[in-house]
Parts: sequence; C-alpha cells; structure tokens
Amino acid sequence: MAQVQRMSRLMVKTLRDDPADAETLNHKLLVRAGYVRRTAAGIWTWLPLGKKVYENVARVVREEMDAIGGQEVLLPALLPKEPYEASGRYEEYGDLLFRLKDRKGSDYLLGPTHEEIFTQVVKDQCSSYKDLPVILYQIQTKYRDEARPRAGVLRGREFQMKDAYSFDTSDEGLAEAYALHRGAYQRIFERLGLDYRIVSAVSGAMGGSQSEEFLAPAPAGEDTFVDCPACDYAANTEAVTFALKPASTEGHPAVEELDTPDTPTIETLAEHLGVPASATLKNLLVKVDGEIVAVGVPGDREVDLGKLGEHLAPAEVELVTAEDFEGRADLVRGYVGPQGLDKVRYIADPRVAPGTSWITGANKPDRHARNVVCGRDFEVDDYLDVVVVEAGDPCPACGAGLKLDRAIEIGHIFQLGRKYADTFQLDVLGQNGKPVRVTMGSYGIGVSRAVAALVEQTADEHGLCWSKEVAPADVHVVAAGKAVQTELALDVAGQLGAAGVRVLVDDRAGVSPGVKFTDAELIGVPQILVAGRRSAEGVLELKDRRTGEREELSVAEAIARLSA
Ligand code: ATP
Ligand code: MG
Repeated sequence: MAQVQRMSRLMVKTLRDDPADAETLNHKLLVRAGYVRRTAAGIWTWLPLGKKVYENVARVVREEMDAIGGQEVLLPALLPKEPYEASGRYEEYGDLLFRLKDRKGSDYLLGPTHEEIFTQVVKDQCSSYKDLPVILYQIQTKYRDEARPRAGVLRGREFQMKDAYSFDTSDEGLAEAYALHRGAYQRIFERLGLDYRIVSAVSGAMGGSQSEEFLAPAPAGEDTFVDCPACDYAANTEAVTFALKPASTEGHPAVEELDTPDTPTIETLAEHLGVPASATLKNLLVKVDGEIVAVGVPGDREVDLGKLGEHLAPAEVELVTAEDFEGRADLVRGYVGPQGLDKVRYIADPRVAPGTSWITGANKPDRHARNVVCGRDFEVDDYLDVVVVEAGDPCPACGAGLKLDRAIEIGHIFQLGRKYADTFQLDVLGQNGKPVRVTMGSYGIGVSRAVAALVEQTADEHGLCWSKEVAPADVHVVAAGKAVQTELALDVAGQLGAAGVRVLVDDRAGVSPGVKFTDAELIGVPQILVAGRRSAEGVLELKDRRTGEREELSVAEAIARLSA
C-alpha cells in the first residue's frame, strides 16, 4: 500500500510567474511548483513535495553508502570551537563560519563540515587495529556563510550534505576506502539520473587521485571545467597540463635589440611592433618565500596565480611591489627578459619550450629584444603549468581542442591522510602492540544541491521533470472536473495505491482542467493519468511527462501498466 496524496489536501500552492529574484531554473521551478520557499538568503524551507524529493535522494545515498559498509551516525551541528581551533580551521574558515556564543560566553560554531568531530569520535571509540577499518557517515545540515548565496538550493548558507569519513591503519587501506566511495558515488549519481564527470581536483604537479570532484555539467554551475569533445578527458581547469615539446635551438637569427619607447605592457609592445601578443614573452615577477622569481608565459596568456601557488606550496607566493626593485639594477620594471636574469630563478610554462623564439624585454628601459631563443639565450629552471586554460587548448590525452564548460560540484572525495589524526593524535594499537597513526579520507555529497542539479539538468519549458527514483510520486492522476471524472480518478488512485504505486491525485474542485494540466506538467511527476472526456466509459489517458507521448487505456490496463 503506497501513499495516495490528494491535491485538495496537499499544501502546494503553484505560481504562474517566476520569483522576481530568481536567476536559475531550480530556483524558479522549485518555488513555482511549490517544492520550496525561501526563508532568508540561502536558507530554505522544504515543503511537502520538496521534502519527498529530498528524502528520495537521501535514500539513494544511504542505500549506496550502506552497501559499501558505511555506518550511519548523526553528529551535532552546534559545535564547540576547541576542536576547530586545534586544527586551525576556526581561523582558516574566516567569514564562512557561523560563530556564536552560549549564555556563559563560550564560543561555538555551526558545523561547515565535520572532520574534527569524527576524528574525536573514532579516537573515543576505537583503540585497536581490530576496530578498523571503519567508514562513518551522516546526512546532516551544514552551515556556511557563503558570500553569494544564490541559485536557489544550489548554494545555501544552510544546506544538507552527506559527509563520510574513512579510518584505516595503512595507505593501502585508505586507497581501498577511497575506491569504494568512488564506486558508490558513481552508482548514486547514475541512479539519481545525473549526468556527471569525475575530474581530478588537484593540479597535475601534485599528481595522483587523492582528490576528485564529481561535476554535473549545467549552465547554472559555478565551476568551470574542461571537457574534450573528442575523447573522455575531463578535468578541473587547474589540473590541465600542456606537453613540453622541445625543438632545435639552431637556425634562429641572432638576438637583436629594439628601441621600443613607452612599451612597458604587452599590449603597448605588440602594437608598437605590429606583432601578435603571442609572439612576445611575458615575464611576471613574484616573490616565493621572499625570493624574487620570474615566471615566463606567452604574451597572450594569463598566469594563474592559484595554480602557481599550488605548484610551489607550501612556499608562499606574493606579487612584487615597487620596493622589491630597490637595489636590483638587474630588474628593469616592464622590460625584464630571461636572457639577463642570471641571479633569478626562471619558471616557465611548457609553451616556452626549448627552441621557441620570442620578443621580450632587453633588461634596459624602453628596450626590447627579438629572436631570444629558449635553450640558446636563456634556460628555464623549472617548467610548471601556470597559464589560465582557454578553450581550444590541446587535450592532454588526444590533442583535440578543449571546450570550457560550466558545472555544478555535486560530490568531492578526498584522501586526507594523517592531517587530522596528527592534530588529535588518533592512534590505535597495531598488530605488534605498538601505536599506529590512523589515516583518513573524507567524502561529501551535496544532497540538497543534488536536487538543484537534477532540476538544472532535466527540467524543460513546461516545468520539472523527475526520474522515477526521485519523483515525489510515480503517477499524477488528474480529474478533469466533472463528478464522474473525479470519481474515476479517485477510484483509480485508490487501486494504484493498493498496488504499491505512489500517487498524487488532483481532485481539486473548482479548478479548471487547463490549470490542472499545467500544474501537472510543472510538478513533473513522470506519468500523468487523466480522467477526462471518456471517463464514463472507464477510459483514461496516460501521458509520459518527458516525451509527451499519450495513449488511451482502460482502468485495468492503466493499473497493470503503472504497477508493473
Ligand atoms: P563549493 O566549491 O561549491 O563551495 P566546496 O568544495 O566548498 O563547494 P565541499 O567542502 O567539498 O564543498 O563539500 C562537499 C559537497 O557539499 C560539495 O561537493 C557540494 O556538493 C556540497 N556543498 C558545498 N557547499 C554547499 C552549499 N553552500 N550549498 C549546497 N551544497 C554545498
Ligand atoms: Mg569541494
């Protein structure tokens, strides 16, 4: 016996118009169809239909987490500050953290994620290697004071996350737990009906697969990723690498100095010489742990400081200031060229390969040099991928021109290692009786965000369009209006319910058939069964919400079909 929900009793008020401030499909449609209401910026109320969809997503997540041996727990959202101070995140999170005080003046926070508390739980509960490995998870409300809470339930300040944590005594164990989660996530997103890509979340230099993101391509997404139209390569923009292709350094003309007054920028230089910016070599000066370093990239490309920082971490990267040039006659601001930088470490993008020839600064005011050849006139100390990726860049796997696409981050898996175990001295007794430091993974899925991502990917011009697995009902039975139609609709709805089919039946009196049909499309249940014109003969019309296909069926046929 499944639930039969009657629209005449259900708290659902649909709207004809989009909310004024809504920019994204999920915000517009979830509000218009009566699934959610905004309580405050980034804070949402889930109404009955919305709660059903949310719970269906949560159920799929739960089933797949249980299937890999995850044990569900529920930690508090209101947390003492001390564990987050110990890990450094009380400070690191900055404005993202909701902080509050209790009546005694003690500091608390609303949990943005729970690594610290899970580590403490395991320290309290597990003492021997025999207690491990263990996978714990929860589906719980998280709080982050996001700068731009927008896009409906896609980015909330209060939102629901499934967060899981694995605890192992060895690196192999962690790798295994990571693989288990990766597989579970693939099954979850497939069952939910989300189109997704798995991309490495860290730059190539850090290598490996310690961290991957699950991205759902959608124009409303806030992440940009690269997607190869020719092969299955997909990556975070920070992770794209460019192959170094050295060529011969011979046969180039000699270096020639040029008089280039007032050309301290690539634009002024390219215009003055009448060459494309790509023919010039841009040398950005930065300080790495206080030491001046030059970074060379083609003049038409931008340096991605985030990428550079990641490559050089834990060293600190800062931009140079005017003071840094004092007492450095070798550094002529605006006219730096690598051929004169003997005392400065030179980092370059692989596009600046041995054998390439450039127009670059001559290390004298208002002077540039041409035919400056990499490997002949200057050497590169380190090659690092540091340019901002652009559409059309070659795919590292197959060479085809890459596309840049928008996507929603729906999941993130991460091999944390011993960072939190070190902070909280999480050890267990090993086989040999000696303490072993535990290694951890953390694995998140945005459960409320997944609802938004589904809408962004599946809605059409008529409204929401759910897959069977997440829909708030299996069938939406519409009684066109007359008494005989309502009678038939309620009868069929009752029989479907008895057969285990989840039914929403529109038995509202005084609502026109047109409004009921529009609402059914907007609400987005996969099958719409109409008791209309031929109700007296016991004939119904079944419409597929997604394809729009219709067919007429008898009551018995409809019940057989829909309960199959
Ligand atoms: P983002 O880059 O979008 O801010 P994040 O990388 O900070 O997300 P994680 O800490 O990796 O997020 O959290 C795990 C998952 O929780 C994310 O993959 C995402 O699906 C979800 N999530 C994170 N922040 C929000 C939010 N503000 N609203 C809804 N879901 C969120
Ligand atoms: Mg993330």
